[in-house]
Amino acid sequence: MLVDTAITVEQNQKLAEWIAASGKNLTTIYATHGHGDHFFGVNTIRKGFPNAQFVATREVIAVMQKQASAPVVSAYWKVRFPRQIDSTLVIADELKEGVIELEGEQLVSVPLGHTDTDSTTCLHVPSIGLVVAGDSAYNDVHLHLGESNAETRKDWIAALDTIESLKPAGVVAGHKRPGAADTPNIIEETRKYIRDFDRTAANTHTALELYHQMLVLYPDRVNPAVLWNSARAVKSGS
Ligand SMILES: [Zn+2]
Repeated sequence: MLVDTAITVEQNQKLAEWIAASGKNLTTIYATHGHGDHFFGVNTIRKGFPNAQFVATREVIAVMQKQASAPVVSAYWKVRFPRQIDSTLVIADELKEGVIELEGEQLVSVPLGHTDTDSTTCLHVPSIGLVVAGDSAYNDVHLHLGESNAETRKDWIAALDTIESLKPAGVVAGHKRPGAADTPNIIEETRKYIRDFDRTAANTHTALELYHQMLVLYPDRVNPAVLWNSARAVKSGS
């Protein structure tokens, strides 16, 4: 079972090799949400595992179709990852029941609504207390807040409350600092970042001011370019 792919062909080739080296057969790829950096690798992964099914919820598939459309791929993804993205983009089949059976255990797709985009989910494995959070929780990486507003950021907080209510022992973020521990602490850290961003946004006038003040609070998080995008989005028109 693979939850979300990497983005570049090279990364996904390494990922497929890593899975093969485990001795496991990959039967299912599940996408937590529709962002391209979580599913553009399916074709590359399937070269090693041609029988792996690729599934997501119907709402995730709708986001996925927009992300894989020619205008979005060329204007957004190819600019950031030139000649690094698979030319064949695969859209998931619908996961109708919301539950995937794996080696006698149940993996449960939990709808979370808006987090870093619309209609996101996490995958919950009750038997081992695991939540694979996709981009609902970030682990020491700046959050993508460029698609949300103050109202939908409340939905994101509520999604984190939902994850917490599952009482997970481990939470795997879609974006994390290499080597960071997959602890449930990242639930509160993500909530705090959102609240800090909203408060700082309310107390600043320009994107640059917001960006700098967030960097004072979070000087070491990975990927400040994403913070700049978030700041520009919330301050657009100012
Ligand atoms: Zn995302």
